[in-house]
Amino acid sequence: GSSSAIKVSIRVRPFNKRELSIHAKCALAIEGVKCTATNEKEAKTFSFDECFWSFDKSQEFSSQETVYESIGTELLKHALDGYNCCLMAYGQTGAGKSFSMMGSRKQPGLIPQIASSLYDFAAKNENKGIQTEIEVSYMEIYCEKVRDLLGKKSDKPLRVREHPALGPYVEGLKKLAATSSEEALQIMSSGNAARTVAATNMNQSSSRSHAVFQIFIKQKKTEEGVNVFEKQSKVALIDLAGSERSSSAGTSGTRLKEGGAINKSLTTLGKVIHALSEKKKHVPYRESVLTWLLKDSLGGNSRTWVLAAVSPADDSVEETLSTLRWADRARKVQCHAVINEDPTT
Ligand code: ADP
Ligand code: MG
Repeated sequence: GSSSAIKVSIRVRPFNKRELSIHAKCALAIEGVKCTATNEKEAKTFSFDECFWSFDKSQEFSSQETVYESIGTELLKHALDGYNCCLMAYGQTGAGKSFSMMGSRKQPGLIPQIASSLYDFAAKNENKGIQTEIEVSYMEIYCEKVRDLLGKKSDKPLRVREHPALGPYVEGLKKLAATSSEEALQIMSSGNAARTVAATNMNQSSSRSHAVFQIFIKQKKTEEGVNVFEKQSKVALIDLAGSERSSSAGTSGTRLKEGGAINKSLTTLGKVIHALSEKKKHVPYRESVLTWLLKDSLGGNSRTWVLAAVSPADDSVEETLSTLRWADRARKVQCHAVINEDPTT
């Protein structure tokens, strides 16, 4: 096995229409791995594993490909080596989480780029006599309930259970075989559509829910009918709910309840990261569905990446500072990944 800290990057998006219309000023500066945020009182500098500047062309600009080249290729390499991998996008609503994870047709994000390279590798594997089986699942955690985005709308919420050896999992979650990256992305799109439907019915639940797309990879080599090796890994790609404080989320009853539940998962995520970063004995994984499911990805058998998305605008600088502080703490968490290998020779 190998120990490694969670790798944390930040990404600064361009101004949006609203910020342009109010003539917002840029409150962030990046120099190498350092990011400085300036509010009315002070300038605060943090260091990360990487800082992606997608604000303007005043310095080296990070495109979707840049972000993939840095995070995606490394993640895929570890996944193919047989390590479980997890990538989470964190940040306030509108900061660029979904753009970085999914992107658009013209500017595909991390998930489509990872999927397309994965199938390229699978094709190369085949030439070496290695079979690769790929399955995907897609779920949403909303108000502490797990919903299968690949299931029927009428399906009951799913339960999280814990397997003694394999850890927490979602009981009854659909895993669909995907034989090409087009197929995998089509499955993801159908899941996204299931989210969007919910969003119009329930006050944009998509910014208040966590979306978890998982890829299950099995690599197998047989020689003359005998297994030479079998490697398995699980890649969790997570678009987290908006991290903004719920006080700004509105006052209606459902919204308050939503805010509370989302706070519960995100607050617990914060508490878990805090406990792990301080090497505390008790880590409150079980206090929320999200952290229970992520138990392995946080301090366990996984290589984990966090991409913190931030707005450049001065009127968001307090939210941005809170994101940067959160991200800073996540860097102190150590994971202990082992290769999930089953050599049967
Ligand atoms: P979030 O998922 O964090 O709520 P989004 O990813 O939906 O935020 O981003 C909000 C808006 O900003 C979207 O219209 C998106 O296309 C745009 N955006 C975000 N990041 C970038 C970027 N790096 N470059 C260009 N546009 C971006
Ligand atoms: Mg989003």
